[in-house]
Amino acid sequence: MDFDIPEEYRILRDSIRRFTDRELIPINEEVEQTKKIPDGIIDQMKEMGLFGILTPEEYGGMGMTVVASCMIQEELSRANICYPMFISGNIGIGTMGIVHFGNDEQKKKYLPAMASGEIYSCFALTEPNAGSDAAAIETRAERKGDTYVINGLKHYITRGNISDVFTVVAVTDKAKRHKGMSAFIVEKGTPGFSIAKIQHSMGTDICQQCELVFEDCAIPAENLLGEEGQGFAIAMGVLEEGRLSLGARAIGIARRLIELSREHAQLRVQFGKTIAEFQAVQWMLADMATELYAMKTMLYDAAWRLDQGNRNRARAGMVKLFCTEAIGRIADRAVQIHGGMGYMEEAPIESVYREVRGMRIYEGTSEIQRLIISRDVLKNGLKSLDYD
Ligand SMILES: Cc1cc2nc3c(=O)[nH]c(=O)nc-3n(C[C@H](O)[C@H](O)[C@H](O)COP(=O)(O)OP(=O)(O)OC[C@H]3O[C@@H](n4cnc5c(N)ncnc54)[C@H](O)[C@@H]3O)c2cc1C
Repeated sequence: MDFDIPEEYRILRDSIRRFTDRELIPINEEVEQTKKIPDGIIDQMKEMGLFGILTPEEYGGMGMTVVASCMIQEELSRANICYPMFISGNIGIGTMGIVHFGNDEQKKKYLPAMASGEIYSCFALTEPNAGSDAAAIETRAERKGDTYVINGLKHYITRGNISDVFTVVAVTDKAKRHKGMSAFIVEKGTPGFSIAKIQHSMGTDICQQCELVFEDCAIPAENLLGEEGQGFAIAMGVLEEGRLSLGARAIGIARRLIELSREHAQLRVQFGKTIAEFQAVQWMLADMATELYAMKTMLYDAAWRLDQGNRNRARAGMVKLFCTEAIGRIADRAVQIHGGMGYMEEAPIESVYREVRGMRIYEGTSEIQRLIISRDVLKNGLKSLDYD
């Protein structure tokens, strides 16, 4: 087994790390207060090619691996999860459906502009009556001549308010349940399609969630992604990669929280000693670092296997489950080590604590990951963990 990082990855990681340290961490307070990423930073991210990490080179992207994408997201998350979230549509769920299932025309039309960041994309599956039970969606797409007419409501759609292109999953054949779902490309401005409202949340207000409404929204039939009935498979495919991305983001956040907690513990004096000298604090740091190591090992193993073409929903579920639960525990200990300061808005810990809470919910709750994993264990034993 060879766990060395290839030289080109090391160079890439170091350049993103420098960008994060020099440009992003110093503006953390401003970004938290204004709830906005400065335009100049977004432009730099575009120049660095960060909106096209996974898009094939022939369509203007960097054509990189999932491992590289995870490394980049890990580094950006050290500053704030809003950065990987901001590019998440273009490097993940809003674009990968087109990369994997789009036809030539669709790829040529959308991918270059998505890879450069000229347009933004997002993914719309969840509805008020269909969250964990994605196969229960009610949004309908009815074929009428050369069009599909979409009617329905989506909610909690990240970056819907700024996106130009939406991958929308809708029912084309109700009787077939999940096999009667299809995915469509819907452009902003299509008559009958509107953003009803922004849904403010506990912690992701820089990349907001939105409610989308479709009222007799007619889109060209050629905007069907893949084939009729493939919508559920497309959704599950993009979510598999998305779940690894969440693992990478949790790792980046964990690193920052441990760095901050270590610094604080070595500076803060109580009872005539730094609190780092108390074993209770040392053990919290030890547990945080140990969980981080487990998160890293697990994520990069799963990402590497995915790059080898070895897809496995249960493995992606394990990464999502473990990393997002672990970051919750790590954030909790970071608050504890910072004492009152960890609870106050003026210090950087409080907002991170709120942000990471959502990670156990979006892209499939922890309970749904356990469902996926346990089904796999019952059916296949521990095959998902074997190296062939
Ligand atoms: C910040 C944020 C961003 C999001 N971004 C997007 C997006 O861009 N696109 C998109 O399509 N969706 C998005 N979502 C939606 C997200 O994927 C759903 O919220 C999530 O899948 C859970 O669905 P729900 O909220 O309806 O909860 P529910 O499904 O109602 O679940 C409620 C509770 O019941 C539990 N539960 C449900 N079924 C079972 C079961 N079978 N066994 C055990 N427990 C169960 C759940 O685990 C949970 O604890 C986002 C959500 C959030 C919070």
